[in-house]
Amino acid sequence: MGVLSPRVNRIKPSLSSMTVKKVRELKAAGIDLIGLTMGEPDFDTPPLIAEAAARAIAESRTKYTNVEGTPELKQAIQGKFKRENALEYEMDEIVVGNGAKQLIFNAILATVSAGDEVIVPVPYWVSYPDIVLLGNGTPVYVVCPPDAGFKMRPDDLEQAITPRTKWLILNSPCNPSGIFYTSEELAAIARVLLRHPQTWVLTDDIYEHLLYDGRRFATIAQVEPELKQRTLTVNGVSKAYAMTGWRIGYAGGPAELIKAMVKLQSQSTSCACSISQAAAVEALTGPQDLVLERARRFQERRDFVVDQLNRIPGIACHVPDGAFYIFASCRDLIGRQTPTGKVIQSDSDFVMYLLDSFHVAVLQGDAYGMSPFFRLSFATSLDTLKEGCSRIHDACESLR
Ligand code: PLP
Repeated sequence: MGVLSPRVNRIKPSLSSMTVKKVRELKAAGIDLIGLTMGEPDFDTPPLIAEAAARAIAESRTKYTNVEGTPELKQAIQGKFKRENALEYEMDEIVVGNGAKQLIFNAILATVSAGDEVIVPVPYWVSYPDIVLLGNGTPVYVVCPPDAGFKMRPDDLEQAITPRTKWLILNSPCNPSGIFYTSEELAAIARVLLRHPQTWVLTDDIYEHLLYDGRRFATIAQVEPELKQRTLTVNGVSKAYAMTGWRIGYAGGPAELIKAMVKLQSQSTSCACSISQAAAVEALTGPQDLVLERARRFQERRDFVVDQLNRIPGIACHVPDGAFYIFASCRDLIGRQTPTGKVIQSDSDFVMYLLDSFHVAVLQGDAYGMSPFFRLSFATSLDTLKEGCSRIHDACESLR
C-alpha cells in the first residue's frame, strides 16, 4: 500500500501478541484450548500495590507527571538499583517509561543510525530485531548453541563486533531459553567489550526476580564497573510483581543517553501513567516476600513441565535457570506424519498441528530465531500444565 513507510514495512507485528490474541479468540469461541503462550505471570498484582494505586486515584494524583517519572518513583528505583544490584545512579541517570519495551525502543531510536549494527544473541526476545530495524539499524545475530547451554560464547561475540557495532543486547534470565549468565560469565563477556569502546551494552534484566535453585542474579555494570559508563540497565515491574498491564519499566544509564531518551518520550507518549507510577513505588519499596514465594511456585511448575516433556519421545528440553519459559527441541519430530498425512517440516508445522488438532497453544522457535524448537510458558496453573503436557504427549504419539 502506497501510504506505508519503508520503516514500517521492514518490521513484523509482534508474533507473541498475535498468537495470544488468537488464543483469546479461540477461547471466546468456546474451544477448550490450553494456552501455553503467556508472557506474563498468571498471578494477580499483590493487594498492597493495588491499594497504593487506589489511594493515588482517591487523592486525585491523576495529572501528567514529569516525562522521566515522578521523583518518588525515581527515588524508589535509585534505592532498588543500590540495594539489589550495588549500582549507584544519580536522579538524572534514571528514566521511567511505559514498560521496559518502550525504554528499549527509546534507547535504540535515540542512538542508532543507518549502518549501525546491534548484536542480538539468538534465540532472542521477538522485539529486539524489529526495534533495531525500526531504528534503521542492522541486527547482527550471534547464535548461542544449545550445546553451549544457549549461552553466548565470548569468542563468538568478539567475532561479531565491527567498528559499526553500537550495542550488544543482553537478556538474562533470557526469554525464550530461560538461561542466565553468572557473574563469571558476564565478566568474560565484559572482557571482550572492554576491547571495543564503541560498543554499548543494553542489558534487559526484566526477569531478574524469576531465578531458580538459589541462583544469584548479576548484571553487567555491577560485574564490570568500567562498563557502567556505556551500559543501559533496563528493568521493570511487569514480571516480578505481576504488573504487565500497568506498563511501568525503568532504566539506569549515563545522563546524556537518559536525557535523549526522555526527549524522545516527551514527543511520543509523555509520562507513564501517574496511577501506575504510584503503584510501582509500593512494588519497589514495599514487602518483597510475595516475589520470593511466587518464584518458588514457578520453580515447582518448571520442574513438573521439564520432567513431563522429557518423557515424550521426540521432545527434549534443558532445565531453565530463570524466567517462565521452556525452549524445547522438536528436532526428532521433523519428517514425521500427522494422522491426516501432513508431513511436519518445521517447528511452525508442529505448533500448528498442536493448535489445530489438540488445541494446545505454544510458540514456534522460528519466531525467536532458532529452529526446530518451541517455547512453552509455565506461567499458568499446574492443572493447565498437566493437561497441556498430556495433549502434547498424545499429539506426539499420534505422529507416524
Ligand atoms: N523484555 C523481555 C525479554 C520480555 O520478555 C518482555 C515481555 O515479554 C519485555 C521486555 C517487556 O516488558 P514490559 O512489560 O516492561 O514492557
